[in-house]
Amino acid sequence: MATATMDPRGGVWVGSATTAASSVEVTDEVIVIRIPRPESVGVRGSEGASLLRFAAHAGSFDGLVLWHRYRAVYGLLAARIAAEDAAGSEGVFTRYFDALCQVAASYATVAGVRQWAAERFVEAAQACFERIPAVGRLLRDGLLTPAWFRRAVEQTALVDDVELLAFIDAEIAHRLSTMGGLSARRVEDAVAAIVAEHDPDAVTVTREQAKAARNVVVNPLNEDAAELIVTTAAEDAALCKDALDAVIAGVCVHDPRTRGQRRSDAAVARISGVRFGCRCDREDCTADLSDAAVAARCAKIVLHVVVRQETLDPTPAQARGQAGGEAGAEMPAFVDGFGPISAAHARDLAARRDAVCKPLDLGDLAVRMSQPGNPYRPTAVLDTAVRGLFGTCSWAGCDQRAWRCDLDHVAEFDHQDPAGGGPTCACNLNPKCKFHHGLKTHADGWLDDQVVDANGVVWTEVTTPEGVTVRQQAANPWLLPELGLLPCRHDIPAVAATRPVSGHAGGAPKRTLSRVEAKHRYRRKQRAANRRHREALIAVRDAADGQPPF
Ligand SMILES: [Zn+2]
Ligand SMILES: [Zn+2]
Ligand SMILES: [Zn+2]
Repeated sequence: MATATMDPRGGVWVGSATTAASSVEVTDEVIVIRIPRPESVGVRGSEGASLLRFAAHAGSFDGLVLWHRYRAVYGLLAARIAAEDAAGSEGVFTRYFDALCQVAASYATVAGVRQWAAERFVEAAQACFERIPAVGRLLRDGLLTPAWFRRAVEQTALVDDVELLAFIDAEIAHRLSTMGGLSARRVEDAVAAIVAEHDPDAVTVTREQAKAARNVVVNPLNEDAAELIVTTAAEDAALCKDALDAVIAGVCVHDPRTRGQRRSDAAVARISGVRFGCRCDREDCTADLSDAAVAARCAKIVLHVVVRQETLDPTPAQARGQAGGEAGAEMPAFVDGFGPISAAHARDLAARRDAVCKPLDLGDLAVRMSQPGNPYRPTAVLDTAVRGLFGTCSWAGCDQRAWRCDLDHVAEFDHQDPAGGGPTCACNLNPKCKFHHGLKTHADGWLDDQVVDANGVVWTEVTTPEGVTVRQQAANPWLLPELGLLPCRHDIPAVAATRPVSGHAGGAPKRTLSRVEAKHRYRRKQRAANRRHREALIAVRDAADGQPPF
């Protein structure tokens, strides 16, 4: 066991963070928390931008404080273990009331929480300094919120090889600190993909546990309501939800229930074998809920899984797990609406009788990216590759699954003059949910951009009307690393070559051409300005290496 790096002084702990950027100081009289303002790393912005950044990053400040709380309790734990080791006595009581239990008891007493909760807290502190210290430092630096960090602790809990754990810790920390904008979903998926790739056993155990945990439980919530929880395989849970959506899609527009209420009613009806009907009580109800109609909608349910060919058909050497760079056999796959799954899980899915495998050749993209005769529409290969690369709506913070999104031309496609507008190309397409596609198209002041860096990493960037820019990598570069390295087969349109175009999002309100033209011209200018600003910012950040990113 490692020892703590700070020492208790007469019951009062005095310490400070190791970075000059942020610090926490605890003495008898005061607790001083120092956090640099975002502007200090050269981010431009209005007062609105500062307020927005502060409001939106509160979880990051919590992470900094939590890291110091972990450090304090970990120090107590280390001191207790050292004291016990020095005493050298080991009896049944010290085994039962071990150091962790005792420190947790102190914590529970003072914090006013249960012993069980206190032990989880001390264990998380131990994970933060022993199991995944590099990820722990991201908590300190404000990159991870407390909830995201705790998920990372859970997701790595089954990795038991010390050297492998150190490697996975470093991989996760590197990935999370370089992928840009983070959300609960992006953090969880990034950690899941790394664990699945480097320690498939740690995932397999969870999967076996999940399989064994298949169950149906009824929990009373209050005297009127109870919840029914069905625990099953991830893909079956996703299919069930889609099936409910296929049922409720048949109600007429006058049904008064919320979507959640309809799903609940449909689930109860399907399970108990009674009929699910529209609740409009109108003579002219147009609901289409016949068995045939529901069956027809259910038949259209598809759960998309993107998996590399070598994962499905490992070569004999790969299957035996031989070293020597034959990566691929254990490359995780991606399930739309769920996230990364292990290679073994993907092979099981492909073997299902209801599975349809469609081989796609990324090499085809070198020949063409848009459909023959329709330069606006991407080919099936590009469509799948772009959705697989992003995994969800590309907008920072949005989790909508990629196959429920539109594919948006980031720089607007010009239907009158395709060569003059944004190209149908991997460099200019990303998935956007209906809401964010609409927000970009109809609301003023929003700006998005997509950039492929020199390493072939695809980045998206969203700028709010307040002037705050969030930049993030596409979520699944590990799945399709070659996508960003494809040579573009189009000319970059000249900024001046603006022509009137029609709105590209479905249902766009009619505007005068000059207004659309002005907006698109504004966007091109702003994108160019953002790119210049970003380059300047990267230079500043490189100079100020080690600064926390908030
Ligand atoms: Zn109706
Ligand atoms: Zn979205
Ligand atoms: Zn391109």
